[in-house]
Amino acid sequence: MTTSAEVRAAAAEAAAAQPGWAARTPAERAAVLRRALGLLAEPPSDLLDLFVRETGAIRAKAEMELGAAMGELATAAGLAEQAAAPVALDSAVEGRTARAERVPLGVVGVITPWNMPLMLALRSVAPALALGNAVLLKPDPHTPVVGGRFVAWLLRRAGLPAGLLHVLPGGAATGTALVEAPEVEMVSFTGSTAAGRAVARRAGELLKKVSLELGGNNAFVVLADADVDAAASAGAFGSFVHSGQLCIAVGRHLVHRSVAERYTAVLAEKAGALTVGDPADAATRIGPLIDERQLAKVRAIVADTVAAGARLVCGGTAEGLLHRPTVLDGVRPGMRAFDEEVFGPVAPVTVFTDDDEAVALANATDHGLAAAVYGGAPEAARAVAGRLRAGMVHVNDQTVVSEPQLPFGGVGCSGNGGRFGGTAAVEAFTQWRLTTESTPPRRYPF
Ligand code: NAD
Repeated sequence: MTTSAEVRAAAAEAAAAQPGWAARTPAERAAVLRRALGLLAEPPSDLLDLFVRETGAIRAKAEMELGAAMGELATAAGLAEQAAAPVALDSAVEGRTARAERVPLGVVGVITPWNMPLMLALRSVAPALALGNAVLLKPDPHTPVVGGRFVAWLLRRAGLPAGLLHVLPGGAATGTALVEAPEVEMVSFTGSTAAGRAVARRAGELLKKVSLELGGNNAFVVLADADVDAAASAGAFGSFVHSGQLCIAVGRHLVHRSVAERYTAVLAEKAGALTVGDPADAATRIGPLIDERQLAKVRAIVADTVAAGARLVCGGTAEGLLHRPTVLDGVRPGMRAFDEEVFGPVAPVTVFTDDDEAVALANATDHGLAAAVYGGAPEAARAVAGRLRAGMVHVNDQTVVSEPQLPFGGVGCSGNGGRFGGTAAVEAFTQWRLTTESTPPRRYPF
C-alpha cells in the first residue's frame, strides 16, 4: 500500500517533471505512445497468462482487452497532434487580438477498477500524457500488476521520461490521498457509484475537476418485431461476457410480451450451453467472479429477487467463485435484480406491452450509462432509442459497445458526463487558456 506521504512525494515529483513534458512537441509525446503500442503488438509471452491469473478473465477476454488497450494508445497518440492548434477569437476592442488554446491541467490522478484493468488505466493515462500532463495512477488492489506496474513498465520502455507516471498501489485510503495531493488538479475516476460519490465529494471540497465513470444498470429493449433468436444471442452476450462484470453489461432484458416466452427460452438455452470453469482452460466461456464479496452479493440479489416473486429459469448456483449463468423472469421494478447493478452473470427478464411501458421501465433507474434497442423496423427502434436516458444508446445491438475513438460515458448515477473517446478526452484532460495581446499597449485613465 502506498502511504499518504508517498503519494505526496510522487505528486511533487510529477509536478516537477510535467512542464518539461508539456514543452515537448505533440509529435514527440505521440511517439512515446506509438512505441508503447508497438510493444503491446508483441506483448511479453506471459502477459495473457498474467491477465488470466490476476483478473480471472478467460483468455478471449484478455485478448479482447489487449486489443482495446492498443486502441486507446493509438487514439491518444492522434490526440496529441489534434489538440495543439490555438483558436483565434475576435475581440471587441480595437487593437486587441485574442486566442484560446487547450493546455494541460498539470498532474492528473487516475483511479481504476479491476474488471478491465489495463484498458481502463490506459483510457485515462494515455490521453492525459498525450496532452502534456503527468499522471498518478492508483490501480485496484485486485489488479496491481496488469492495471498498474505493467502500465508503468510499458510506458517507461516506450521512452516516457522519468517522473511523469507514478503507479501507487493501494486501496481507498491511497485513493483519498491521491485526490487530496495539492498538485493533483484533476481526478479521473472509474469504479462504483458509491466510491465515485466519495471521490467527488472530496474533490468538490478541494475545487478539483473530476471525471466520473461509474456503474450502470443497462436496459436491453427487445421489440415485438425483432428477430428473437438473434436478440436472445445478443442479450446473452451482453449479460454473460466476462461473467457480467462489465459496467456496460446488459443489466435488464425488457422484452415485448408477444416474444418474451421464446426470448427467455433461447436465452436460457444459451446460458445453459456456456462452459463454466477454469479461465485458463480454452473451452471455458464463464470464469470466476472476482472475489467472495462479489459472489455473496450476486447470490443475495438472485435469492432476494426469487423470494420477491421472480422465477429462476436456469442457473442460480455457484461452485467456489464460479457462478452459473442465470436467467430470471417475471422480474419487476422493486426487485433487487431490476433495481441494482448485479455485476455477475445474471440476466433478469421483464415483460412490457407497448413502447411507452418499455421506455418507462428502461428509464426507471438512477443509472444512465448504456442502453440498447433491438427491433425489426429501424424507424421504430430508433424512436424508442431516442427516448432512453443514457449516455450511450445502441440500435440493433446490445449494450457492450465501446470503441476508443467514440465518446464513452454516462449520466445520472453513472457519471458526470465526463466523456472519454477521441476529442472528448481533450475536454477531460486539458483546459482553456486565453491569451490577448494589445497593440499598441493599452493605456488607462489612472
Ligand atoms: P470500486 O469503486 O470499489 O473501486 C474502484 C477503484 O476505486 C479502486 O481502485 C478502489 O481502490 C478505489 N476506491 C474505492 N473507494 C475509494 C475512495 N473512497 N476514494 C478513492 N478511491 C477509492 O469499484 P468495484 O466495485 O471494484 O468495480 C466495479 C464498479 O466499477 C462497477 O460498479 C462498475 O460498473 C464500475 N465500472 C464503471 C466503468 C465505466 O466506465 N463507467 C468501467 C468499469 C467499471
